[in-house]
Amino acid sequence: MYDYLIVGAGLYGCVWAEQAAKKGKNCLIIDKRPHIGGNVYTENLEDINVHKYGAHIFHTNDREVWDYITEFAEFNRYTNSPVANYKGEIYNLPFNMNTFNKMWGVITPDEAKAKIEEQKKAALAGLAGVTDEDSPEEAEAKINSFVPSNLEEQAISLVGVDIYEKLVNGYTEKQWGRSCRELPSFIIKRLPVRFTYDNNYFNALFQGIPTGGYTKLVENILGDFTLLDNIKSIPSAASDSLKQDFCSDCAADAAAAVQRGNIQVCLNTDFFENRDFLKGLAAKMIFTGPIDAYFEYSLGALKYRSVRFETETLDTENYQGNAVVNYTDRETPFTRIIEHKHFEFARDEHGDSIPKTIISREYSAEWHPGDEPYYPVNDDENAALYQKYRALAEKEDNVIFGGRLGEYKYYDMDQVIKSALISAANELS
Ligand SMILES: Cc1cc2nc3c(=O)[nH]c(=O)nc-3n(C[C@H](O)[C@H](O)[C@H](O)COP(=O)(O)OP(=O)(O)OC[C@H]3O[C@@H](n4cnc5c(N)ncnc54)[C@H](O)[C@@H]3O)c2cc1C
Repeated sequence: MYDYLIVGAGLYGCVWAEQAAKKGKNCLIIDKRPHIGGNVYTENLEDINVHKYGAHIFHTNDREVWDYITEFAEFNRYTNSPVANYKGEIYNLPFNMNTFNKMWGVITPDEAKAKIEEQKKAALAGLAGVTDEDSPEEAEAKINSFVPSNLEEQAISLVGVDIYEKLVNGYTEKQWGRSCRELPSFIIKRLPVRFTYDNNYFNALFQGIPTGGYTKLVENILGDFTLLDNIKSIPSAASDSLKQDFCSDCAADAAAAVQRGNIQVCLNTDFFENRDFLKGLAAKMIFTGPIDAYFEYSLGALKYRSVRFETETLDTENYQGNAVVNYTDRETPFTRIIEHKHFEFARDEHGDSIPKTIISREYSAEWHPGDEPYYPVNDDENAALYQKYRALAEKEDNVIFGGRLGEYKYYDMDQVIKSALISAANELS
């Protein structure tokens, strides 16, 4: 019998397994996908590591997580510096002195601050209904008591009209599939503006892309693991009929690995298709799939936002000159284009240039049951439903729910690693 069955070979499941194996525990990881890595999986095509489920840039302020992850890969010096394309005008992101210089020709931080203040004041006066008849005191009182009632008003009152129109409005509408006037103001609590010529998107102490791609990183986390052919190669005292179907090599490998207290991985295996059998293989389970699916949607389905990717190989060396270009106008149907080779400086593993390139257009999409769930919807209704599932989860014997789907939480990679390290430490200590 295994000590742990881990459902999901994403970062959470693999980090958890690594910690358990270090303590001499046997783990069986299953995943319904044909590969390890979950959403961070990269596929090497044309010598380019393609981020199959969306661009992933590792960044963290947590030294413990950084020390942990850099045990398994070297990270390059990639710094996320996206650019925005608004109808052919190019602006640096996040909003910084380069953006303000391009937008208004301002040069010093004081000039930029003054321009933003002027824009905000004009916008707020309009929104708060200030008229020519108002005295300066009356105008100020109206502005001070103004409360934005939707995302458009909120954004304009934070950065003024120019930045809102060119860099926020169209992009946000495409992301949410709704007009900014129909979106609640709380979605944008603040819009960070930076008064330095610094295009680094993340304010993180540590940042980079694992050299050779995320799949290699996850393989290294799993260490000397055994890949089982399919569910029939799982050594199980629980099922004689399955045992008869072992190919003898697999069975020998699998049995040996179990004895070593190692990690075994079985792909193309959906937990829900053989739930009782799989659960019976281990003393305890770590479940990183969707929590509502585990409880058969008995309280209703949690909602997600989805993303659709259109990936294309092009016979050109350099398509857009940057890894990430956001299309911030309303008319372009996709939100951004990722050119994968730029995450590793357009070089192959030997440092040579690559003649082709691969791009992915990203379309924000409404999520329907059966679609890939990407972003949990952070609203009151879904938070309340999750809490109900959480209460059921707490009553479930011998199951730990974790990761972005198991906890219905938008986790960055560093957060999911941290969460797995903490959970494993609590369980294994
Ligand atoms: C588009 C996008 C871009 C992102 N970009 C960044 C970024 O730039 N930086 C960053 O830090 N973070 C980023 N993230 C977040 C990052 O992807 C997550 O933090 C991380 O992948 C979560 O790992 P996980 O193991 O919890 O989940 P997952 O990677 O989703 O792993 C869960 C696994 O469980 C498997 N599974 C589910 N149900 C079953 C079942 N029934 N049976 C068997 N297996 C099952 C799935 O196939 C999956 O492989 C991004 C996320 C998205 C969606």
